[in-house]
Amino acid sequence: MFSFSDSEGENKWKTKVGVMDQLRTGGCACGTIRFECSGAPMHMSNCHCRDCQRATGGPYFPSATFNTETFTILQGAPKWYETRSDGGDVVGRAFCEECGSPMFFLNIAKPDLYAICASAFDDPAFYKPTHEIYTSSAQHWTVRDETIPQYERSSKGA
Ligand SMILES: [Zn+2]
Ligand SMILES: [Zn+2]
Repeated sequence: MFSFSDSEGENKWKTKVGVMDQLRTGGCACGTIRFECSGAPMHMSNCHCRDCQRATGGPYFPSATFNTETFTILQGAPKWYETRSDGGDVVGRAFCEECGSPMFFLNIAKPDLYAICASAFDDPAFYKPTHEIYTSSAQHWTVRDETIPQYERSSKGA
């Protein structure tokens, strides 16, 4: 019979569930917008481009990217702002109209991928960036994780 009393076994089980099956919820600061997504993020990256700095108010945009098939807006309708990224793509940025919280980022050319602001999750502790992009415009007053790949522009080297 399977038992959770074995601490190593329990940790393995938690890790597996945490990565593969966990349902994650989040929302904006005022609670108007609520969302959930399941499974593991496809990737997690800190974007240091000037657009992300302006749109988030922080030194970079920490985003966890999920496929739209695993992502659902449960409540509220974010306001979308369309612009052109540093890389030249048409992108959409979603925020809460009531409180202004940045929520999602979408590249119009890849509408099946939602980059979700890591800070919007109810428990953002899972966030672990796998790479940093647009480091050419990173601010000297931010802290970068030099142990993960750094890209001066996008991760495609564009
Ligand atoms: Zn709000
Ligand atoms: Zn950016």
